[in-house]
Amino acid sequence: MTTVYMDNNATTQVAPEVLEAMLPYFHDLYGNPSSAHTFGGQVAHRIRDAREQVADLLGADSPDEIIFTSCGSESDNTAIMSALQTQEGKNHIVTTRVEHPAVKVLCGHLAKNGYRVAEIPVDREGRLDMDQYKESLTQDTAIVSLMWANNETGVIFPVEEAAQMARSRGILFHTDAVQAVGKIPIDLRNSAIDMLSISGHKLHAPKGVGVLYVRKGTKYAPFLIGGHQERGRRGGTENAASIVAVGKACELAGKRMNDENTRVKDLRDKLEQEILAKVSRSRVNGGEAERLPNTSNISFESVEGEAILLLMDEFGICASSGSACTSGSLQPSHVLRAMGVPFTMAHGSIRFSLSIYNTEEEVDFVIEKVPPIIETLRELSPFWKPEEGACATGT
Ligand code: PLP
Repeated sequence: MTTVYMDNNATTQVAPEVLEAMLPYFHDLYGNPSSAHTFGGQVAHRIRDAREQVADLLGADSPDEIIFTSCGSESDNTAIMSALQTQEGKNHIVTTRVEHPAVKVLCGHLAKNGYRVAEIPVDREGRLDMDQYKESLTQDTAIVSLMWANNETGVIFPVEEAAQMARSRGILFHTDAVQAVGKIPIDLRNSAIDMLSISGHKLHAPKGVGVLYVRKGTKYAPFLIGGHQERGRRGGTENAASIVAVGKACELAGKRMNDENTRVKDLRDKLEQEILAKVSRSRVNGGEAERLPNTSNISFESVEGEAILLLMDEFGICASSGSACTSGSLQPSHVLRAMGVPFTMAHGSIRFSLSIYNTEEEVDFVIEKVPPIIETLRELSPFWKPEEGACATGT
């Protein structure tokens, strides 16, 4: 059975070019980049190149603004904790109801430890309430942390506008751009964004490497305290192979952005339109909002997302219900709940997330297999009332 992988917001395949670029750092070039000898120096040199490749993709002013970390979660944690540590007395954080757990759970933890956290709501399409956002910014707000694009729905927030509002009030602005980088253009040159997080494994580099962009002049306190690596901003011997990989992945992402925004978007649109046409009472969550080109979150009324996943899995189709981190729990995801998606729709939601490696044949295969799966599950469902256009439980 072949695998049809449409779960790229959970993780991506390492690009062959990326794998090729990183392999020498496991055997031939294994020196420590901090060593005084030339052997280690070669690795340090290549890490410098990777920093430039990342800075180029982001339109950063300088490669010095790039800090390599162990993952997107570390980058998010570092940004928020740094803002709190460098601005003692400011104890207010502004974020949203739909953040990834790397921000949401940290903010929940901080709320239990004396900080005040404002979680800005979203509307039915997942769009941020900008009036509430504006009102939430106060003199004691230490940081705004707002995701660029949502991992479950792909809905894009107006981060630049939000960052300008924060800056005009002297508030630091961080964005979790883990799902946005490589999928939509980002240019930090004339931006008001102070910090930005990336995760390697979402853009065809391996798992276990991340990036934190910190604008020059931003007050900063390291999260991981140790050696002088990353110019004292993140202790720990560099994961050279993965850093080289993330640099290469950023270079490729810049070149492939056009493909992502045309061919991948067309495939996503075809998948969505044909499934919606074939399956009654199905709906795209966030479909009216500005979205990433690769993501489609579809709700099927009166069926269980987990059951859909299991039946798709029998055909080798990989997708997720809720987010990768919440599947396994039977609670509808916090994102769909924040959007007010009705219970019977939220439960039957599936996220398809494509990449440049998906083909039209794969999309056609999914379009062929999904509608009968939904039909089968609805026939078995005690909640499915086809004649009424509604379902038995309306909570
Ligand atoms: N932020 C978002 C929006 C994500 O989708 C993810 C991963 O799913 C993360 C942060 C965490 O990244 P990592 O898995 O590298 O810790």
